[in-house]
Amino acid sequence: MRELLRENIANLTPYSCARNDFTGEAEVFLDANENWQDFVGKPDANRYPDPLATQLRKALQDVLGLAMSKTVIGNGSDELIDNLMRCFCRPGKDSVLLLPPTYGAYRVFADINDVTVHTVPLTPSFAIDIPGLTKFLEQEKLNRNENGRVKLLFICSPNNPTGNAFDRSVIEQVCSLFDGITVVDEAYYDFSNKESAVSLLENYPNLVVLRTLSKCWALASARVGIAIASEEIIAVLRSMKYPYNVGSPSQDLALHALSQAHQVQKGLALIKAERERMERALSQLDCVRTVFPSDANFFLVRVGNALAVYRYLLDRGIIVRNRSKELHCENCLRITIGSREENDRLLAELSSYKEEQDA
Ligand SMILES: *Cc1c(COP(=O)(O)O)cnc(C)c1O
Repeated sequence: MRELLRENIANLTPYSCARNDFTGEAEVFLDANENWQDFVGKPDANRYPDPLATQLRKALQDVLGLAMSKTVIGNGSDELIDNLMRCFCRPGKDSVLLLPPTYGAYRVFADINDVTVHTVPLTPSFAIDIPGLTKFLEQEKLNRNENGRVKLLFICSPNNPTGNAFDRSVIEQVCSLFDGITVVDEAYYDFSNKESAVSLLENYPNLVVLRTLSKCWALASARVGIAIASEEIIAVLRSMKYPYNVGSPSQDLALHALSQAHQVQKGLALIKAERERMERALSQLDCVRTVFPSDANFFLVRVGNALAVYRYLLDRGIIVRNRSKELHCENCLRITIGSREENDRLLAELSSYKEEQDA
């Protein structure tokens, strides 16, 4: 890991914030230039949040089994993706490897950080192309020099927008092929029956797993993402993040959600039941060519004319995502599994759709 890290990050003296300096019991806090007054009826709103989100990480350990020593909380997993690039990739020199079609944010953050993107596409059936990846990585090893190399490889599993998860054995294969940092984005992990990559951390110290409370935990507004990795990588991520990156209201919301794990499990069962129902119902529609199997809370659906169906639904107040421009996703829409009522409305509109309208 040390060899992969940018020199300036390795040598960083982290910002020392007031809330970190003192950890004991005290009653008078005059260390952080806060204002003691309360104008919003929330007693602690005038205090800076815990930079390490200690209570939240304890709850994640208790509820999800994620060891506190191996987690860092981000302002959504999006922040963690950006921070990983900033830790490891020298702008204008190093690069990342993506397996498209995949989550669009990886490329955007690479572009923002002036980090080159290489790709090894998934196969047309959305599997990881192990022979293609092996060949790419062999070539990359020959080409790398002090002016740059591939530092990060992003695997999204279950993958957005295709919906399929990869077997843990395949992810392990990738970890052993790649000598940089492998990042497994498990934003949709809860919806899948496949095993998490977290257990691979034991044998692959250069692995980072990302989770989020935005999807299954229904807290997209709170912006709470989680990175799970070796204590060394976690120490680096903690040293360079904005000290107060996740506000107290968000930490409190996250704690509240984790205390409702039982309810969340019930909600998850509901989504899985709707997923089964929608897979069958969507497949039977005239305008639908293929419903790709989903390990997530959305479907990738191939229709006759995606743009026409997209506009038809838009006119009726239903927004889906047109993914037609993504590799292997010609005429595909990505449709989130909503409430039973929302899904029924979608089905009703789609069943009245006439393909002749396409022209
Ligand atoms: C939704 C999503 C995220 C975003 O997570 P936040 O925690 O809300 O930033 C990350 N990765 C993938 C693949 C997603 O689809």
